[in-house]
Amino acid sequence: MATLDLININKIYPNGVQAVFDFNLHIEDEEFVVFVGPSGCGKSTTLRMIAGLEDITSGDLIIDGERMNDVNPRDRDIAMVFQSYALYPHMTVYNNMAFGLQLRHMPRKEIDQLVGKAAETLGLVPFLNRYPRQLSGGQCQRVALGRAIVRNAKVFLMDEPLSNLDAKLRISMRGELIKLHKRLGCTTIYVTHDQTEAMTMGTKIVVMKDGRIQQVGTPREVYEKP
Ligand code: ADP
Ligand code: ADP
Repeated sequence: MATLDLININKIYPNGVQAVFDFNLHIEDEEFVVFVGPSGCGKSTTLRMIAGLEDITSGDLIIDGERMNDVNPRDRDIAMVFQSYALYPHMTVYNNMAFGLQLRHMPRKEIDQLVGKAAETLGLVPFLNRYPRQLSGGQCQRVALGRAIVRNAKVFLMDEPLSNLDAKLRISMRGELIKLHKRLGCTTIYVTHDQTEAMTMGTKIVVMKDGRIQQVGTPREVYEKP
């Protein structure tokens, strides 16, 4: 649970490309915000700046009242899920989920509890001893989600997490992610180029184009305007 403020954020990559222009957004506790827009409009760049994976060229990123621009990604209480699940192929499902906690030197018993709880939430208990190559695409995506939620981070970022899944699974996972958000209650930002996905999932939709915010509102305000 967290509030975020993005204040006048600009991003210019070292090659001179400006990907984000004067981005201003307030995000309330527990919101499910969707960044939507065509490929190249700056969605991922914005998400990566929030995660600390890209420097912010100018502007301020405030989380719960604290300026985060210069805080190391590992010290931000943020979990992120990528489109490519980025699982460790040589580690079991359990170890994929436990790894981030082990890095933080958490006691074994506590790790067991947290991994067990996340695995239960995502229906992964029967698969804890499998390797990623022994799982279907949907199961791999669950493990990626599990690795993210296991830490109980206060901000949850997802970058096109469903786009590698087939259409049917993608639609059922939308519903599951909505339920997961309700259960966890963490402030969520979700990136997609798919308008239907945005409309069905978000409580607040941020429509982006050419590095700028075009529109912000509820799904109804954004998509049902006369
Ligand atoms: P989206 O997520 O909406 O597809 P991105 O944030 O990935 O958009 O990209 C926004 C713009 O920034 C695009 O023009 C893209 O080519 C450019 N861009 C993305 N990453 C880099 C990078 N590492 N170096 C230079 N330009 C980049
Ligand atoms: P999907 O049809 O969802 O893509 P798969 O056909 O890949 O799934 O797998 C179907 C079931 O078989 C899943 O429960 C998956 O975990 C299991 N499975 C797939 N490959 C292996 C494997 N190499 N070893 C054990 N179980 C596997």
